[in-house]
Amino acid sequence: MRLILLGPPGAGKGTQAHRLVERYKIVQLSTGEMLRAAVAAESPIGLKAKDIMASGALVPDDVVVGIISDRIEQPDAAKGFILDGFPRTVAQAEALDDLLKKKKGLKLDAVVELRVNESALLSRVEARVAQMVARGETVRVDDTPEVLTKRLAAYRSQTEPLVHYYSERRKLMTVDGMMTIEEVTAEIAHLLARIAAADKAKSAKKSAAARKPVAKAAPKAAARMPAKAARTAKGKGSASKRSSGKSAAKSAGKASRAAKAKSARKGARKAPRSAAKKVTKKRAKAPKRLTKRR
Ligand code: ADP
Repeated sequence: MRLILLGPPGAGKGTQAHRLVERYKIVQLSTGEMLRAAVAAESPIGLKAKDIMASGALVPDDVVVGIISDRIEQPDAAKGFILDGFPRTVAQAEALDDLLKKKKGLKLDAVVELRVNESALLSRVEARVAQMVARGETVRVDDTPEVLTKRLAAYRSQTEPLVHYYSERRKLMTVDGMMTIEEVTAEIAHLLARIAAADKAKSAKKSAAARKPVAKAAPKAAARMPAKAARTAKGKGSASKRSSGKSAAKSAGKASRAAKAKSARKGARKAPRSAAKKVTKKRAKAPKRLTKRR
């Protein structure tokens, strides 16, 4: 599993990353933490990054790309990783694509965007600072209201374009970061399970198609079960699942027209719901609660 967590400061990326690490036994790669370690160690990278980070601006792309490139080569990242705080610019995203595809032949599974109301971010960061102080930890120099404003501005102008970047590449999954920590975790797990199920279904479908032909539903059964009929009639030019149920019933013969029309009307009302349910089950095997919300 290779994931990216995307979101403004205070969105909860770190919190969710820790939970994902536990759940999927993959490593968290946080460029922010790596840079802070470099600053503390006064390494050449740290010396370069120190003032930039303190101001709330972004460290140059080549610096962070270099760090990440080295880091994902490490054996502990072989099983998968969560990128937290990287990529932060389109140039970094492109560099990551190159790194994964060309150099390592790896695939990115998903980009999870944590979407939050900006008004909540300052109080979240303030709460984080208070907790760190209470624990006797050193507070980040960029966790002040002034620098936070700059970090947010950097996010909006340089990082938010990645939402579009990954959405175009069909990698983006947006989660409401205003829910409770547990709810956000559950939603991410659900979405990741859907991806895994879709991948599994895709390969199963491929091998099944190679083995046997798809069985066709009999007309009688189609009239009795409009949802199935909707799928069967789809290839005959019906515009929607609702009308598909009706046309399938019509084609079932004149003899019991009245009875069948009644059945079709009944079914047509039910068809979209049951069809949707079947499609969801087939595609994703998703838990009911989260499916409903979508
Ligand atoms: P946040 O809590 O704001 O998401 P991080 O801990 O991820 O912050 O990063 C802190 C600082 O480190 C950023 O404001 C930036 O200066 C620097 N930084 C971290 N990751 C990157 C990156 N991918 N590109 C450029 N700068 C970065």
